[in-house]
Amino acid sequence: MQHKNTQAIRIQTERTNEMEHSTPMFLTSSFCFDNAEEMRAAFADETDDNIYSRFSNPGVQEFTDKMVALEGAEAGYATASGMSAVFGSFMALLKKGDHLLSCSSIFGSTHTVIKKYLPNFGIEYSYVAANRPEDWEAAIRPNTKMIYVETPTNPGLDIIDLEMLGALAKKYQLILNVDNCFATPMCQRPIEFGADLVVHSATKWLDGQGRVLGGVVVGKKELIQDIYLFCRSTGPALSPFNAWVLSKSLETLDVRMERHAKNALFIAQKLESHAAIASLRYPYLPSHPQHAIAIKQMDNGGGIVCFELKGGLDAGRTFLNSLTMLSLTANLGDTRSIASHPASTTHAKLTEEERRTVNITPGLIRISVGLEHQDDILNDILQALEKC
Ligand SMILES: *Cc1c(COP(=O)(O)O)cnc(C)c1O
Repeated sequence: MQHKNTQAIRIQTERTNEMEHSTPMFLTSSFCFDNAEEMRAAFADETDDNIYSRFSNPGVQEFTDKMVALEGAEAGYATASGMSAVFGSFMALLKKGDHLLSCSSIFGSTHTVIKKYLPNFGIEYSYVAANRPEDWEAAIRPNTKMIYVETPTNPGLDIIDLEMLGALAKKYQLILNVDNCFATPMCQRPIEFGADLVVHSATKWLDGQGRVLGGVVVGKKELIQDIYLFCRSTGPALSPFNAWVLSKSLETLDVRMERHAKNALFIAQKLESHAAIASLRYPYLPSHPQHAIAIKQMDNGGGIVCFELKGGLDAGRTFLNSLTMLSLTANLGDTRSIASHPASTTHAKLTEEERRTVNITPGLIRISVGLEHQDDILNDILQALEKC
């Protein structure tokens, strides 16, 4: 079998009669049939002909096939955003009376879906703290159906032990569903550790250039079939244009992630002992509390660095205001380096106590390290730190 980065470049679903080298865009909502019999056979699922782009589209399929190959999965379905992949994986597989076990450190919108909407459908949930891995097994209930985690977590960069959860999922016959957005398959492949499903926000590193929203879920064939049937009826299909952008993006994912990780390690090493910083986290630094697990399951430390400013909330605001190059924006995983201060922005509505339970401290800064020259990224951060 070809190497993963070769597959990300070479997988091509369709070529038209024009024999174009780059994949064409299939900007069409539906597909034609030559006659009534062909159309009947497609609707009867006797062929895998494309019918309608809410169900399938060749360009969307190409992006999906690449992600299936990169994650080492059996099948996949691409969605309009990361959240529709997450939501689709919950709604297709969980039903009234089931219990979802997750981690208290998860993406904000995922937390909202679990806490606010799943109970409307009679689906129970509970959380295990990211820093208490010994609690997972005792938290499993007779009606637990799925374990859902992300690792590294956003924004705190906690590392969850995938091998341990893979073994628990197998022992209790649970679906292990992993959000692999922060690592990407170039750094971490949860299926190798026993995950049944992997979800992604393609909006982040997979696009990597801050252009489009997208998502994808890959994993075991029978689970993906259920997710596909749910999504094909409820409509979170990925647009063919976004699929084209994302499929082209995957051709450079390997080289981009290598450089993001190299720049991030450099920044982390240079900042770790800075006088304005109380503590810094990067999975590939020996000082990270779960460094051993990171080394075991990740091929590099990824592109995110976070640190706690000694000056707390005020220093966080000053830091953002003092940056001259890094962008202040809600995204991450871009060629352009991005700084965020969750306590005064994305998590400002929570009380300080609520923020603490999700590991968001007053002076927490998250840097999504871009592809600019490492010295330029460092210098902008250093001059801003001097004002904190
Ligand atoms: C951004 C993000 C999501 C949601 O993805 P969207 O494409 O914004 O819907 C899910 N999980 C993680 C870890 C994220 O960072």
